[in-house]
Amino acid sequence: GERAEKYVYDFTEGNKDMKGLLGGKGANLAEMTNLGLPVPPGFTITTRACNVYLDSGTEPAALRDEVSAHLDALERRMGKRLGQSDDPLLVSVRSGAKFSMPGMMDTVLNVGLSDHSVAGLAEQSGDERFAWDSYRRLIQMFGATVLGVDGHLFEEALDEVKHAEQAATDVDLDAGDLEKLVERFKRIVSDETGRDFPQDPREQLDLAIRSVFDSWNTDRAKLYRRQERIPGDLGTAVTVCSMVFGNLGPDSGTGVAFTRDPASGHQGVYGDYLQNAQGEDVVAGIRNTVPLAELEAVDKTSYDRLMAIMETLETHYRDLCDIEFTIERGQLWMLQTRVGKRTAGAAFRIATQLVDQGLIDESEALQRVNGAQLAQLMFPRFAEDSKGELLGRGIAASPGAAVGKAVFDSYTAIKWSRSGEKVILIRRETNPDDLEGMIAAEGILTSRGGKTSHAAVVARGMGKTCVCGAEELEVDTKRRRMTAGSLVIEEGDVVSIDGSTGKVYRGEVPVVPSPVVEYFEGRMHAGAEEAGELVEAVHRMMAYADRRRRLRVRANADNAEDALRARRFGAQGIGLCRTEHMFLGERRTMVEKLILADTDEERDQALGALLPLQKKDFVELFEAMDGLPVTVRLLDPPLHEFLPDITELSVRVALAEARQDHNENDLRLLQAVHKLHEQNPMLGLRGVRLGLVIPGLFAMQVRAIAEAAAARTLAKGDPRAEIMIPLVGTVQELEIVRDEALLVIAEVERATGVGLPLALGTMIELPRAALTAGQIAEAAEFFSFGTNDLTQTVWGFSRDDVEASFFTAYLEKGIFGVSPFETIDRDGVGALVRSACEAGRATRPGLKLGVCGEHGGDPESVHFFHEVGLDYVSCSPFRIPVARLEAGRAAA
Ligand code: ADP
Ligand code: MG
Ligand code: MG
Repeated sequence: GERAEKYVYDFTEGNKDMKGLLGGKGANLAEMTNLGLPVPPGFTITTRACNVYLDSGTEPAALRDEVSAHLDALERRMGKRLGQSDDPLLVSVRSGAKFSMPGMMDTVLNVGLSDHSVAGLAEQSGDERFAWDSYRRLIQMFGATVLGVDGHLFEEALDEVKHAEQAATDVDLDAGDLEKLVERFKRIVSDETGRDFPQDPREQLDLAIRSVFDSWNTDRAKLYRRQERIPGDLGTAVTVCSMVFGNLGPDSGTGVAFTRDPASGHQGVYGDYLQNAQGEDVVAGIRNTVPLAELEAVDKTSYDRLMAIMETLETHYRDLCDIEFTIERGQLWMLQTRVGKRTAGAAFRIATQLVDQGLIDESEALQRVNGAQLAQLMFPRFAEDSKGELLGRGIAASPGAAVGKAVFDSYTAIKWSRSGEKVILIRRETNPDDLEGMIAAEGILTSRGGKTSHAAVVARGMGKTCVCGAEELEVDTKRRRMTAGSLVIEEGDVVSIDGSTGKVYRGEVPVVPSPVVEYFEGRMHAGAEEAGELVEAVHRMMAYADRRRRLRVRANADNAEDALRARRFGAQGIGLCRTEHMFLGERRTMVEKLILADTDEERDQALGALLPLQKKDFVELFEAMDGLPVTVRLLDPPLHEFLPDITELSVRVALAEARQDHNENDLRLLQAVHKLHEQNPMLGLRGVRLGLVIPGLFAMQVRAIAEAAAARTLAKGDPRAEIMIPLVGTVQELEIVRDEALLVIAEVERATGVGLPLALGTMIELPRAALTAGQIAEAAEFFSFGTNDLTQTVWGFSRDDVEASFFTAYLEKGIFGVSPFETIDRDGVGALVRSACEAGRATRPGLKLGVCGEHGGDPESVHFFHEVGLDYVSCSPFRIPVARLEAGRAAA
């Protein structure tokens, strides 16, 4: 028969590549165990067991026995039984998913303690205070997470006892105080849940395991996954790990550390340590931590051991790692490691550092960064010498320059940002309940906590500006204000925070371009002193990408200025020049004349007036892109876009009538507007259809392109124009327009004596075009996929309407994880693109293929376009570096 599925793995049975099954935490604990590092023994229940439970409402039948077998083995190994009265084995029950979701799910420590075993623990450790402290922590954590008791009730009770005993912090409470606290906590549990705190250790374990499974689906976990684009069906693993104790006195403690600075990438010792404490205390910011470097003075042996382990981990994982550790009476234990989250700048620096150290090669380096991070590095920042009024300085936890109105709670952050305000969320410290507010805010400011605090870790993950631990700032969330010395910031006052320097300013501080943009613009050179390590790293990574990528990158640009900028950013041509922008401004009246023309003569006159202007535009554009292809799209939008608004015009005409003031032109305009009015203009008279029904319009545009190309050639330039026909649905449309164009081009060639090798091609942006691409390729020398319109027409979505109306609901229901207008829908729109490429190339092997929608600059979409074998992507000038990098990553 079939072998029963294995649901539980001992730490010795797993490894780091089993993250899908064991979660990141379980997989990496196994990896460290097998590396021979000091990890307290334990085992991990798979994500598959979690999914069975979440789908069916009960644990898989075999799970209980399997847990029993692994627990037995653990107990034999440790020489004590779970919750044994005279010497209890205690365990932690820990969540851990494939992708890190810091603090979003549950973990319960000290499972196995009871009224009986608390005495045994006191006896064995020789420390009564410690035993009661551990027990009260269990009831508190178990009560809040497993039994669903409001955590504030425990905190209030703790505060009251501290107050009564005049204890400044929890370490000042003695055994007797803590024993009394345990009684209070137990009463809270029975009052709130109607049952006593469970005394059976195995029952505690089973309930904790189930509660960790359930924590996969809390609101905050769901929100975090949506934000981080983590699939909702992965489930969490549950790791059961024998306890070690950092709360056994001053020679014990707990800490978190990075092998490098996650903000700058610099190698060294970065972390926080807390003496006489248990894990959660560090991140919760209950007492103030000390920098890890101070551990050296307290316990040199453990410190040296830790440094050696960090080095081992870096070499083994070949990347920055973050770790959680505990020291129990001078003995160091590793409780977690993972490849650490980092800022965008650090990602680039670390990748190149690791290449230099010979730990990774260039292709691997490219996998360590991404386009979203590069985009983030291109955001503006505060000027060095900004004159803002300094309120204080905290830790530069996540870079960027954020300006907004001060708000002191998540609810207000969400509310204000919904009404279009930019806000800075200011808290003493954040916790997972603040997540939604953090997402809504421009930036996050806290007065407590270090680089590893909740605010810092989450903000870095989201790429959001964050300053934390600004201790000079007194944050009073109740009164919604913050004071810095004598200065008071009330809710709604503008503040500016600099996540790169940690500085906090009152008012709005002006921003300057980032050094990375200065570099791309050619105003700063790699290697120059002021460029710094970041520019150096970006420069090198771009070179790695450019050497590898197969996709060429072009720009969407309509004028010479954009074209020049695009070129500096590395554009290899223009993939989309929209000519409609050349019809706006003062030329609008000429377009009006064209639309209003009653006779051929009037129309020719209007077109004749536009011709030299268009030609001049193209001459400038071809000059700016000399030697590189420029794809010019003939007029695409519905004509009503060039006419006055129908309501405005109606009012104007009505008012004029009332004054008996007859304006002939306005009347004719109004008639035209009425005539051109369409219910669905996006599906109406536009694109190639304009060329077919308005005689001479496309011919004029083609003539302007041809004459401009001829002029550039005569001026010893190298123009490479490509003429693109939009919104074609059938090859017949294309043939008619193409034949007309060829006549015009031949005429210009004769008149100027210049040979004009102008390519003629089409956009593929209607489903019918994609489906008949094989026929269309007969008449087209190139295809450019217009994925915006293609997405609209394939889904039947109006881009201008749906994003504001029902997309949020679609995202919430998980119908898609990201808008199909942002990232190409591989299965639908993508499938059409793929088959159109194949059909087109079957007809015409040399067919040039590109894409010019918004998707051309979207990282994930770029990978798709690489896969289907396009020749180039085209995107807005500012996105070009991102597209280059992603095209390189796709090929690496
Ligand atoms: P999270 O995923 O939120 O980081 P963890 O499961 O890592 O949750 O637990 C949080 C902290 O609890 C750990 O950093 C560690 O300090 C402490 N902890 C967990 N398991 C143990 C254990 N077996 N012994 C001692 N401390 C533990
Ligand atoms: Mg952890
Ligand atoms: Mg289009």
